[in-house]
Amino acid sequence: MSKNQNKTGSYGFFNCIEKNFDKAAQFISIEKGLLEQIKACNSVYRMHFPVKIGKEIKVIEAYRVQHSHHKLPCKGGIRYSMKVNQDEIMTLAALMTYKCAIVDVPFGGAKGGIKIDPQTISSENIEKITRRYTSELIKKNFIGPGIDVPAPDYGTGEREMSWIFDTFLSLRSGDVDALACVTGKPVSQGGVRGRKEATGLGVFYGIRELCHVKEDMYSVGLDVGLVGKKIIIQGLGNVGYHAASFFHESGAIIIALAEREGAIYNKKGLNVSKVFLHLKNNGSILNFPEAKNIKNTEKALELECDILIPAALENVIHKNNANRIKAKIIGEAANGPITPEADEILDKKGVIIVPDIYLNAGGVTVSYFEWLKNLSHVRYGRMEKKFRENVNAEFLKVIETVCKKPISIEEKKMILRGPREIDLVRSGLEDTMINGFHKICDLKKSLKIENMRTAAFVLSINKIIDSYERLGIFP
Ligand code: NAD
Repeated sequence: MSKNQNKTGSYGFFNCIEKNFDKAAQFISIEKGLLEQIKACNSVYRMHFPVKIGKEIKVIEAYRVQHSHHKLPCKGGIRYSMKVNQDEIMTLAALMTYKCAIVDVPFGGAKGGIKIDPQTISSENIEKITRRYTSELIKKNFIGPGIDVPAPDYGTGEREMSWIFDTFLSLRSGDVDALACVTGKPVSQGGVRGRKEATGLGVFYGIRELCHVKEDMYSVGLDVGLVGKKIIIQGLGNVGYHAASFFHESGAIIIALAEREGAIYNKKGLNVSKVFLHLKNNGSILNFPEAKNIKNTEKALELECDILIPAALENVIHKNNANRIKAKIIGEAANGPITPEADEILDKKGVIIVPDIYLNAGGVTVSYFEWLKNLSHVRYGRMEKKFRENVNAEFLKVIETVCKKPISIEEKKMILRGPREIDLVRSGLEDTMINGFHKICDLKKSLKIENMRTAAFVLSINKIIDSYERLGIFP
């Protein structure tokens, strides 16, 4: 048994990342000490604080981990789950560091977590806990526009980000940059258009790019393109729902969706927005008309399909089910959904795995755009939209005169339109995901690396090394 393995033969979550890091390090020649520094978690803040819930005082356990300070601020989501523990938050913080480097987002990695089950707590009490957690972060200087900037993650969303901002502002009144202390806020509270769906859209862009690489598609016996590909998605939360919607709109077939309570299946395809409505109205995806229920939700992962997208939690594909996975491509929308043992099994089977440190980076990319918007205090497109429209109108006039032919109203509408915030955010995200994909693939080819995960780690570590080398090490 290796020193990374625990008694049950499986790896601790942080050790999983170390294992992936070590595989990549074989392709990098640099002083060992620097690699050790990049791997280590710089700061771990574990806290307990009391919150009065009803007549009782509850002690809440929470964390904020800053994995790397090679770029500042640190950045990473906050999750609310009963599974939150130090190992998990350290791992997710490390993933953030590698992720940011891949997509050229100039942040160090961080992550936070509160050990609560938001499904069993009233929103009033979630607000109390969120505000108290934020004030604990402020006390220890673990939050701020230039220090550490949280965002949503599992179990949190715009609502919690608003409360964090409001608490920060009330304790730092007059801070003109206070809006930039957290991202993933609602648009009315300084959020950026396109953040909510950014991670899911990034997953879609990444998989779409892969599906257009002939070599890769032929290697797993699939045709080029996304249209008609059979997809299974686990988790219909923020990431899973938006990814599913974009795949569905692009002509892929969502054959199964899995949630906590069970999964639903229809080989001809599910209408994602109808399923979501059904979930909202009934509190469960089960019993969706024209779909078969699968009681054991984990079994959905093992169904025949082209692409499997785990978008719920970590370690859902492990050594005990990896051999039964039939997908030809797995897109890691969730963080760490595949254990290292399962990774090896799937690699041997020839499954293409698009790794989390690249594929779910859409969220942090658009969070970066939101942070920039907050610091510049102006909406994207505000200064240039009308100017572009005027210039485009002049162009059209010239074209009509030269061609002696009028342009139709519909064509005019399309050509005249100046960029709105959502257009700029989406084009920035698309460009980032496409570039990231090709950088990983180019490196994989040039260094003859066996899989995308190792290549993504090599790309990321090289960028962090470059940062440290230029920064120097404090004597
Ligand atoms: P979320 O809370 O919005 O959604 C998670 C969904 O998974 C929920 O609908 C939940 O009911 C479902 N779920 C829980 N246990 C399940 C199980 N055993 N089987 C099937 N479904 C189950 O969370 P999210 O923000 O969508 O995050 C999902 C994953 O994506 C996490 O791993 C998170 O770290 C990662 N991620 C999120 C973001 C983001 O921007 N939100 C960014 C990067 C990565």
